Amino acid sequence: MYNASGDMVGTAQLTESPDGVEVKLKLEGLTPGFHGVAVHEFAKCEGPDFKSAGNHLNPEGTEHGLMHPEGPHLGDLPNVEADSDGLVDAELMLSGGTLKEGKDSLLRGEGTSLVVMELQDDGVSQPGGNAGTRIICGEIKSGKGEEPTESPTDPTELNDTQDD
Ligand SMILES: [Zn+2]
Repeated sequence: MYNASGDMVGTAQLTESPDGVEVKLKLEGLTPGFHGVAVHEFAKCEGPDFKSAGNHLNPEGTEHGLMHPEGPHLGDLPNVEADSDGLVDAELMLSGGTLKEGKDSLLRGEGTSLVVMELQDDGVSQPGGNAGTRIICGEIKSGKGEEPTESPTDPTELNDTQDD
């Protein structure tokens, strides 16, 4: 997890569980109080504004907010609270998400990202809970280091269809 200046300010550990994806989040240097957290659609954390991460992960086309009647986004998470020293040590559950394959996967495509907000997510306002600016971002990518490769077209197949 990195702040707008590119400094590492913590870690996020993601674990597959029967209920979704468990997120163990440890951060430092925050303003004491509540901060919104959400999984965003692109694994691209370019500071200082982290707009590169895209919108909240929302494969179902629902509304934003854990308290919204037509929500939430798949990527919506509860707020975390930074203590008086600016530290966060939280365990969150991303219900419905997975680290396996599929449209609800956090590793779909190039991956996704985890973004922490300046302010508290109110759980109902569109599109992001009125939570101020993006202050911390971490890219969520497969740690296997094995990118699936596309099968190249076999040129001999094309030749087989030609008359000599
Ligand atoms: Zn959302």
